[in-house]
Amino acid sequence: MNEKNGKNNECVLSEEEKALMQKLAAEHGTPIFVIDHEKIRQNYREFEEHLPRVQAYYAVKANSNPEIIKTLYNIGARFDVASMPEFMLVHENIKNLPDKERQDWIWDKIIYANTIKPVETLEALDKYKPLVTFDNTEELKKIKKHAPNAGLVLRIRVPNTGSMVELSSKFGASPGEAVDLIDEAFKMDLVVEGLSFHVGSQCTNFNNYIQALQLSSNIIKEVASRLDKKLIIVDIGGGFPVKYDKKVKEFKVLAKKLNSEIARLFPADMHILAEPGRFMVADACTVVAKVIGKAVRDDKPCYFINDGVYHTFSGQIFDHCNYPVKAFKEGDKQISAVFGPTCDALDTITLSAELPELDLHDLVYAENIGAYSHASSTYFNGFPPAKIIHINQ
Ligand SMILES: *Cc1c(COP(=O)(O)O)cnc(C)c1O
Repeated sequence: MNEKNGKNNECVLSEEEKALMQKLAAEHGTPIFVIDHEKIRQNYREFEEHLPRVQAYYAVKANSNPEIIKTLYNIGARFDVASMPEFMLVHENIKNLPDKERQDWIWDKIIYANTIKPVETLEALDKYKPLVTFDNTEELKKIKKHAPNAGLVLRIRVPNTGSMVELSSKFGASPGEAVDLIDEAFKMDLVVEGLSFHVGSQCTNFNNYIQALQLSSNIIKEVASRLDKKLIIVDIGGGFPVKYDKKVKEFKVLAKKLNSEIARLFPADMHILAEPGRFMVADACTVVAKVIGKAVRDDKPCYFINDGVYHTFSGQIFDHCNYPVKAFKEGDKQISAVFGPTCDALDTITLSAELPELDLHDLVYAENIGAYSHASSTYFNGFPPAKIIHINQ
């Protein structure tokens, strides 16, 4: 497989990989969603290599395929889950695997990083003594009553400026109320272990991380001086950007900034966690679909393919992400529209793909489609999600 072009360029399939995609489509039919496990391992290694102080907890919601969970676990990942089914999915898939534990991590495997938890979930989680996030008083009361054995992490609200997906309007205590909330938790006899934040998904504005780390450090110092309590976790969340296009700066540039800020702001025994989702899986998956119908409208070629925004391309709606549709076929390109198979006009993948003239049954593909794609695929209109194929497992 190609070396991801050393990640210096946007991730594009090599000729060899394109041939493999066509072969797999011939063997399995379409649409197929191809997961390259070697690329996932490369992403994990890159993360670990550039952020040696940070333990990655893979955010399962980005792509919850159980085989991805196993691959990441085997290479040293831990997990961020945000629902009881995700928790059980991870638990079931890793409980029998041998543990190459990094012993210095207290919370061995899973952080439950949804600040809002149904009572039933808290009750089910309590026996695992989980690490859970919270950001308000009501949640503290619920945790006290239904999961008193949990360890707590306060999620703070931090700038999400310029991130592709904004999260700060829904989650996070304002930094000004953080110390009071932590005080309240300790007074309830709960244990607050640390802080977390999320700078917004696909964060290309690295200042968001810098500001968030500074805010965290300020809070930790105030907790020490005012409450005489030591926080031992800083969870820097997700947001690590994928090179969907050349404009996105390289990960190692961000990593360098993070390393020096972490060293400047936190003592060496502070546990630094992160919750990368997109970064681990986005460029590891490719969808292959075929043309099932064509038309010309206002002189523009229009292609209907057997995957769309209710399916693998759902990220175009939910993730504000755009996946260029490409053809394997060569030829003069024209601006073309590409639609999904359902009867809804929302099922429009693009009105401006650059494609050669395609015929019925020709194959098209979209790369870098591993995050927030298949995970939010539906059965709308009776069309099932794309078939999953694993390579380099
Ligand atoms: C979605 C999410 C993540 C993963 O974010 P990415 O931008 O995909 O890395 C991490 N943590 C939390 C709490 C999330 O909600």
